[in-house]
Amino acid sequence: MAEGVIGIVGAGTMGSGIAQLAVQNGHEVVLRDIEDDLVEDGLADVREGLDEAAERDIIDDADAAFDLLEGTTEIDRLTADATFIVEAVPEKMDLKQSVFEELDANTDSDVVLGTNTSSLSVTEIANVTEDPERVIGTHFFNPPVKMKLLEVITGHHTSEETIERVEEFAEDVGRESILVEDYPGFATSRLGLVLGMEAARMVQEGVASAEDIDTAMEMGYNFPVGPLKLGDHNGWDVRVEVGEYLADELGHEVYRPPQNVKKMVRAGDYGVKTGRGFYDWDDD
Ligand code: NAD
Repeated sequence: MAEGVIGIVGAGTMGSGIAQLAVQNGHEVVLRDIEDDLVEDGLADVREGLDEAAERDIIDDADAAFDLLEGTTEIDRLTADATFIVEAVPEKMDLKQSVFEELDANTDSDVVLGTNTSSLSVTEIANVTEDPERVIGTHFFNPPVKMKLLEVITGHHTSEETIERVEEFAEDVGRESILVEDYPGFATSRLGLVLGMEAARMVQEGVASAEDIDTAMEMGYNFPVGPLKLGDHNGWDVRVEVGEYLADELGHEVYRPPQNVKKMVRAGDYGVKTGRGFYDWDDD
């Protein structure tokens, strides 16, 4: 059985991207954020993404896909018909646990609860629920409509049925899934973070400019996108949270964000989403 209505918690970069992926593939989606304007921003991002997909002939009808989407700030709307809910709120354990407590209290035990965490322990997130068997890591990549991977992370208690339902959903929306144990940074962020933080440290040390470091990796190593440009797309606010967590959990300082990244984030320059990071995105 492919999943029915998909609930998404958090209408930011990832929540709106996952919503677009799901409606493009014919699923009804309810997207929840904490304030009306944040919901509206998320819906506008999906609309823009669908229009672009229609222009490129990836989908036939952007209006029909958009009609499958509902935005809300209400928990009751989110949970009314959802069979699978994906959480995509900021990378903070306390916040994610409070979201899962609320989801656990407001859904039947056959609703699968996924977290889009990039690094945090799925087991620890699931620990606040009555049914940790239905909690699983569903790590989509940015932007979800373009990145083919779905990293599926099994918490300590995640059931086989939960894994199967998520793998089926991945196939349904055309993602390639890999199955990973619950271990800090999983199979992706653990490697990706090292490269991003080390590239930032090299800028700080004056080794080369951000542009030249990205060009080095794109032209010299055949990376589709350099590590600093990628960090601008992912958001350095998110990367700082992940980097600090991985440095503490894995005991390697290579994950720790350097001062230039911390300063950028303290100044509100997160990357593409705020208009500036290592690059200026305002003109794009
Ligand atoms: P974001 O800051 O762009 O969006 C988060 C959204 O969650 C915001 O709109 C915020 O208002 C909302 N929110 C906060 N508390 C909420 C609550 N209690 N209920 C409903 N909504 C709430 O963050 P993002 O970049 O989309 O990241 C979300 C998650 O996805 C994080 O765990 C992150 O590590 C992970 N992730 C991010 C990327 C990336 O490239 N940005 C890639 C993969 C995974």
